[in-house]
Amino acid sequence: SILLGLESSCDDTAAAVVQGVPGKTRILSSVVFGQAELHAAFGGVVPEIAARAHAEKLDTCVRMALEQSGKRLSDLSAIAVTSGPGLIGGVLSGVMCAKGLAAGAGLPLIGVNHLAGHALTPRLTDGAAFPYLMLLVSGGHCQFLIVRGPGEYRRLGGTIDDAPGEAFDKTARLLALPQPGGPSVESEARHGDPERFRFPRPLLDRPGCDFSFSGLKTALLRTRDGVMTDNRLKRRDRADLCAGFQAAVAEVLAEKTRRAMTIYMNDKPAAPLLAVAGGVAANRTIRAALLEVASEFDAAFLAPPLALCTDNAAMIAYAGLERFAAGEADDMTLAARPRWPLDRTSPALLGSGK
Ligand code: ATP
Ligand code: FE
Repeated sequence: SILLGLESSCDDTAAAVVQGVPGKTRILSSVVFGQAELHAAFGGVVPEIAARAHAEKLDTCVRMALEQSGKRLSDLSAIAVTSGPGLIGGVLSGVMCAKGLAAGAGLPLIGVNHLAGHALTPRLTDGAAFPYLMLLVSGGHCQFLIVRGPGEYRRLGGTIDDAPGEAFDKTARLLALPQPGGPSVESEARHGDPERFRFPRPLLDRPGCDFSFSGLKTALLRTRDGVMTDNRLKRRDRADLCAGFQAAVAEVLAEKTRRAMTIYMNDKPAAPLLAVAGGVAANRTIRAALLEVASEFDAAFLAPPLALCTDNAAMIAYAGLERFAAGEADDMTLAARPRWPLDRTSPALLGSGK
């Protein structure tokens, strides 16, 4: 089958076309319009501005995705759209656009959980076999999921406050480094000493797979103020602060992943796999730490290409394709859901939430 997917739940407007069957799918096109410049001045995503930009860009995005795929609306099997969770204005824009397209072309409409999109990406890129363990680490999310089927998730734990990407972004702000913080902190850390400042490893002393990252930022602020003279931060100190911060995040992620892997291995997977998604998965120190953990369990490690780790519509089209293949679809009553945990809605993936 051939599916068009739409994504507009945060600050990227995206459309993509995929073709194939579950586990064997090609991406025919994937268009992403970022909104970073629009929100840059505000130090965060402004929901109202985001919603408006999505509404303005969606048509063009869809047209480009279709054009680049070489397909027409009439070639499609169904339309998939992120129907939650996310900023409601953006999600609504996407859902309305998808409904219009589906109604106009007489195609089935399929609502997709944004997190399911991320969680199923290893199937899209590598045809990963169920069950696998997914660590989703981005600017908005941090959680472990055992992915047992296209609509079957078990959440093992997650952050109780900030997401790691958010912590990287705040750290960059505190050290006067450019946004997004992840890449700039990582490149500073490359010539820093990770041992000089010992930052806390939050929640490591407690059992379970939950994370906390907000305390790390406070510790960083205090340490920064301790080494600043005349309100100035030396290059060396900044690099060491970045390296110390990054080492703390990597160690916490690795240790919690060890615990999550232990639980996952109880499923006795035939081909054990640890997969990551989300922008933070781009970090080389973090990747290396996770790869190490996977090898301790004789598991494979998979980090999809960055463009498919961060928000995109190919993953939404793919998650839609899995639902479509299972004979599922929604109708015009499909609702936009700002909150939508993956593992509470029983076997329904996805679903319309009815
Ligand atoms: P979500 O997709 O969960 O709604 P988001 O759009 O903010 O949130 P992504 O686009 O997946 O998330 O990732 C962006 C985040 O990843 C930013 O917080 C950014 O700082 C972080 N990031 C990007 N590159 C790196 C890196 N090399 N090291 C650490 N963090 C990184
Ligand atoms: Fe996302």
